[in-house]
Amino acid sequence: MKTFSIAIHGGAGTLVKGLMTEALETQYRKALKVARNAGYDVLKNGGTAIDAVETAVKLLEDSPLFNAGKGSVFTAEGTHEMDAAIMEGKNLEAGAVSLITGIKNPVSLARDVMDKSYHVFLAGEGAMQFAKGLDYKVENPDYFYDEVRYQQWQGIKDTEGFQLDHSVKKDGKFGTVGAVACDQNGNIAAATSTGGMTNKKWGRVGDSPMIGAGNYANNKTCAVSCTGSGEFFIRGVVAYDVSCLMEYKELSLEDAAYEVINKRILEIKGDGGLIAVDAQGNIAMPFNTEGMYRACKSSNGEEEISIYK
Ligand code: ASP
Repeated sequence: MKTFSIAIHGGAGTLVKGLMTEALETQYRKALKVARNAGYDVLKNGGTAIDAVETAVKLLEDSPLFNAGKGSVFTAEGTHEMDAAIMEGKNLEAGAVSLITGIKNPVSLARDVMDKSYHVFLAGEGAMQFAKGLDYKVENPDYFYDEVRYQQWQGIKDTEGFQLDHSVKKDGKFGTVGAVACDQNGNIAAATSTGGMTNKKWGRVGDSPMIGAGNYANNKTCAVSCTGSGEFFIRGVVAYDVSCLMEYKELSLEDAAYEVINKRILEIKGDGGLIAVDAQGNIAMPFNTEGMYRACKSSNGEEEISIYK
C-alpha cells in the first residue's frame, strides 16, 4: 500500500514556551490531535485527500481556539470577515471565498465553489449570495464572539494598526488553520481557512484564500498551506514557490519548503510557516517564527503534535 499522510497547522507566530498556561497548551494539543486524527481516519478508510483536508479544517474552524470559523478575529468594524481556499492536486481544481460573514465552515463553502460553480474565487456579497443559494445557514454574530479576540481588538481598535493575532498579544490566541494530505492513491490536497488580521479594514484580504500564495496543490509537486503575515506571503507567492522549486529545480519537498520559509520569504522580512506533503506522503512543516501549532501523521509511523521550535 502507498504511504498516506496528513499534516495540519493552527497558525504560526510568537509562541514562546512558558507564556501559555499548561491547561491551555493541553487544550491546543487536544484540538490538534482531534482534527489530525479525523483527517487521518478518512485516509485510512480509503477516502480522498480532499475529504481529509476538509474534515480536518472543519474541526479546527469549529474550535474557538483558532482564528478561523468560530474564534475568528474582529475587523475594525467589530465584525468577522473570513477567507478560505481548497485545492486538489490531481486536476488543479480549486475553490476559494473571501470576506464572508456568518458562515460556520468557510472551507466547505470554498469546496462548493470548486464543486458547484464554474468559478474559482467568490468574494463578499456575491459569495454570500452563492452560499444562500445552497441553503447555508447564516449564523448570528454571537456564534463568532470570543472574549479573548474581543480584548485583542479593544487593544488596537480606533488606531491605524492591524495585527497578526499570532504575534503581538503574547497571552493571546493564535491561529489561521490549514491541512494538507496525501491519500492512498497518491492524490494530494490542501485547505486553508482564516479570520485574517485583527482590526483589518478596507476589505483587506490575506494570502489564505489566494491560490498559489497561501494554498496550493499539484500532484506533480506538493500540497501546501501557509500561515503568517499574509502581505508577505502574497508577495512571495509562497505556496506556488515551493511547488516551483520542486518542479523546475527538482528540490525535495523538505528542501523546497525550507528554502522558501527560511531564505526567500525572510529576505523580504516575512514571518510565518507552512505545512506541505508530496504525492509520496512525505511531510514538511517549516516555520521562521518562535512556534507554529502543528501536527502530522503518516501511515509509515511518523507522528507529531508540536507548538514550539
Ligand atoms: N495568513 C493570514 C492572513 O494574513 C493570517 C494567519 O496566518 O494567521 O490573513
